Amino acid sequence: MQNWNNALRWIQEKLNQQVFEAWFAPVSFENLNGHTLTLKVPNKFFKEWLSNNYIDLIQEAMLVEFGKPYHVDFRVVEQGDERSPDYSDVTPKPQPQAPPHSFGEVRLNPKYLFENFVVGASNQLPHAASIAVTEMVGTKYNPLFIYGGVGLGKTHLVHAIGNAIRENAPEKRICYISSEQFMNEFVSSLRTDKMDLFHRRFRRETDVLLMDDIQFIAGKDRTQDEFFHTFNSLYEQNYQIVLTSDKYPQEIPDLEERLRSRFQWGLIADIQPPELETRIAIAKKKAEEEGIPLPNDVAFFLASSIKSNVRELEGSLINLAAHASLEGRRIDLDFAQETLKKVIALQQTALTVESVQNVVCKHFNVTLEEMRGSRRQRSVAFPRQVAMYLCRKGLNTSFPEIGERFGGKDHTTALAAFRKIEKLVAEDIDVRGRVEALERLLGF
Ligand code: ADP
Ligand code: MG
Repeated sequence: MQNWNNALRWIQEKLNQQVFEAWFAPVSFENLNGHTLTLKVPNKFFKEWLSNNYIDLIQEAMLVEFGKPYHVDFRVVEQGDERSPDYSDVTPKPQPQAPPHSFGEVRLNPKYLFENFVVGASNQLPHAASIAVTEMVGTKYNPLFIYGGVGLGKTHLVHAIGNAIRENAPEKRICYISSEQFMNEFVSSLRTDKMDLFHRRFRRETDVLLMDDIQFIAGKDRTQDEFFHTFNSLYEQNYQIVLTSDKYPQEIPDLEERLRSRFQWGLIADIQPPELETRIAIAKKKAEEEGIPLPNDVAFFLASSIKSNVRELEGSLINLAAHASLEGRRIDLDFAQETLKKVIALQQTALTVESVQNVVCKHFNVTLEEMRGSRRQRSVAFPRQVAMYLCRKGLNTSFPEIGERFGGKDHTTALAAFRKIEKLVAEDIDVRGRVEALERLLGF
């Protein structure tokens, strides 16, 4: 029980407050038996949602807390509230993707299909190009480079490509991987002397390489070099390459020119934020998929309140459904307005430098005064540098401001810290592990 509370606190740190409250406040501990943790949840909708979306997080929290893996079970304990909307026909969603590092395995999310991708003016071109790729694999647009802002459907589209090819041409070997995972696998193959396997897998045993978030390899010289050879090898064999990025190739910093130019050999298609009609259609489609009854006026209200990002739109819809199911309310316009007001207010509480400092302090067990002080002992200086690095990287805080917020230091100190940690992240697997764990914790 105590351990569950610790695990819960760990989970809380990783989620935005709103999300945490919506999904975890109503959950309670039932028991811990052998290798199984059983949690009580208020209804079936919660059970479905938690098991589809948060199981990995819960398991990770248990692993951190107990040092060994647990299986997680949910038991529905109805509160006997007759007014609860009926979510019994919630369509069960497929399990989330397998964890990274399952080297050699295709990790396509079966939920992301062309059928449930809503097309509008904002995404027509990348959608059409993606379909073309599935019809003429390796010969039409190669590479296909999809770029656009966060939460606009890039990952959805590449999975849809993979799923469609798997359906039409099951003999094709498809590899979906983020460039970050590519880097991790590359580094671990180097360390374990398995580069031959790595080459075989990426250069010869992949007919379709779907690489998500290529912008991540910015500044990672060795990974870029490796990817350059991967690219060439696949390209020469007419194997299909699809890349996504949150930036146009010209805008990706620290990217080798030879890669930049290759990214432009095929087709570059950008996704824009969807227009109102598309957002309404997306809200309705998601509601239908999740079995959430969503009246038209509420769909309109949601779509007109949340403009920039489909992921947020989806998140608000789901939060709305969670609140409704808990409070036994119908999802009508009044309820939506009431609930969304809180959501929007919370979303605006952006992560601040202070919260980065707090999280880093806690992780390294140093105090806030030490973090902002000037002791140079490694046990204090290193956490300070990591926190500065994270502020720059995750919050894009300017160096002078970072210096200022870390006890009035010079901007050159902040810059030097950033460079140092950046270098270590690229070269030292332990530092990278820590920094990545902190980034996850902070939701970067
Ligand atoms: P990105 O990779 O661009 O950050 P994702 O592909 O992860 O964005 O999309 C975020 C969420 O929004 C996903 O759940 C996805 O299914 C959904 N989404 C984005 N665009 C659309 C769309 N046009 N139709 C349906 N769902 C969409
Ligand atoms: Mg994505």
